[in-house]
Amino acid sequence: MTAAQVANLPDAPVGVVGAGTMGSGIAHVAAVGGLRVKLFDVADGAASAAIGRIDGYLKRSVERGRMTSEAAANAIGLIDTAGSPEDLADCFIVIEAVAEQLDVKHDLFIKLAAICAPDAVLATNTSSLPVTAIAGPVPSPERVVGMHFFNPVPLMRLVEVISGLNSGDQALAVARAVGQRMGREVIDASDGPGFLVNRVSRPFLLEAQKLLSERVADHADIDMAMRLGGSFRMGPFELSDLVGVDVGYEIAQSFFRLGHGEPRWQPSNIPAQLVAAGRLGRKSRRGYYEYAEDGSYREADPPPHPPESVSGAVEIIGDGELARQLRRLTEAAGYNVSPVAGSPITITIDARANRAGSDLEDQLVAHHPIAVLCAGSSLAAASRGRDMVGFHCLPPLGESHAVEITRGSGTSDASHAATTRFFHSIGKHVIDVGDAPGLVLGRIVCQLINEAAFAVQEGVGTAEDIDRGVELGLNYPRGLLFWSDLIGADQVVATLDALQSEVGGDRYRAAPLLRRMVQEGRTGRSTDRGFFEHPPV
Ligand code: NAD
Repeated sequence: MTAAQVANLPDAPVGVVGAGTMGSGIAHVAAVGGLRVKLFDVADGAASAAIGRIDGYLKRSVERGRMTSEAAANAIGLIDTAGSPEDLADCFIVIEAVAEQLDVKHDLFIKLAAICAPDAVLATNTSSLPVTAIAGPVPSPERVVGMHFFNPVPLMRLVEVISGLNSGDQALAVARAVGQRMGREVIDASDGPGFLVNRVSRPFLLEAQKLLSERVADHADIDMAMRLGGSFRMGPFELSDLVGVDVGYEIAQSFFRLGHGEPRWQPSNIPAQLVAAGRLGRKSRRGYYEYAEDGSYREADPPPHPPESVSGAVEIIGDGELARQLRRLTEAAGYNVSPVAGSPITITIDARANRAGSDLEDQLVAHHPIAVLCAGSSLAAASRGRDMVGFHCLPPLGESHAVEITRGSGTSDASHAATTRFFHSIGKHVIDVGDAPGLVLGRIVCQLINEAAFAVQEGVGTAEDIDRGVELGLNYPRGLLFWSDLIGADQVVATLDALQSEVGGDRYRAAPLLRRMVQEGRTGRSTDRGFFEHPPV
């Protein structure tokens, strides 16, 4: 979409139908983008009430210095109420944000198709109904597209433009231009469960629930591992409580239905039980967490663990991005990291170093602590009951404040304490969790990357759009496929394969695209090529 096309949109108004949470937000950003808006709602007074809310919001923006009073007055002056759908006859595009029911959307679009000009675009803001199904009975379905905004619309700078099976290029181009005029980043998605952003984020909660059901960690520790270790703003369970456990469970069931039983999307029984118990999240003051009168539910996160001044030797076995970053941090903390046999602590990132007869055997005999990265296996599989500690963390280590560790049946208290001290000394908090390939953060992030890779392979969206989508639509700390390039597709596939063989099920089968990238040596930043190009520096 060229700047000229965006600038040269017709002077005719944009129709917005449904003046609730989303419709009022859409009208707001359209007007701020200089588009005239006609707002219609079946409920008496709903459209004018929405304009009142938008006015209040714009005035607060002026008070906070985010816009001038002239710009706010201009924007509010561009929005009118419409008394009936017939009043939308002159709109060049109508965006609906009415109830999430297929028959309601059908009735509306059939009516609008008869009222509006033949080339007027009909866009739906549905979050879960297929755009293709909404367009089904509408005359000239090529004019029907999806425009999926994120809540709260004025703050979330993203819109997905969704192409249904019959959507026409011209209608899609108009929707993109309108999205850009509204000041949104526009990404393209094809029709399917969750479109692009909500689809690739599926494992965020589903995998967390699986970890909870396997008792790898409790909900609070899983959330903490995601915040401190992965720099996510919120963990999956606090987010689920915020959205509503019942709402999340509905979405999970709808995905599974629309995906015809795709094993990666199998819902968990945990929210089913919470819903049955009336524990719906914040709104019922009990969900995964319990909420005090003032809304509080957990302690604030601790500040970063201060690095400690140390000396001594650490052996780090392995190569790749994580080994390199760990070596740098360990050296910066004052350790001697040259590979010396008999080092007081050995960190092994390379599973091959763990074979019988390797140097690690000497370390075990000398009772020197050994910490093994649990990426390509669980600690149980790596240690086979010997005195080792499992750990997991993801690059970029400089941005992560915690490392997870786990112990097995053979782990001594001394090894556990020495490993904890080591990670504290390089400035990381330590979170104790149960055993599993990838532990908590690694397992969830690898499944997120896997889902994103399936989405690329299936043509749901491009790698660039997925990464922009999760950063802008979900506030993820970085794009999932850029993250894959940092971790290395080989490590991601190794974790997925270990999960498939140890935890079981097709849920963890690696996307063929990821496997092919590994076979071709396109593993990410360490090979200069992965989902993106990484020119050597
Ligand atoms: P809402 O309940 O806040 O508002 C819906 C409005 O539509 C109400 O004011 C209602 O009176 C009006 N309405 C219902 N039927 C109508 C009709 N036939 N004609 C005109 N007006 C009608 O709902 P919402 O949260 O704004 O959601 C609207 C749509 O946006 C849904 O399809 C939803 O799935 C989707 N969506 C919601 C979110 C979200 O976070 N709330 C995010 C993305 C997409």
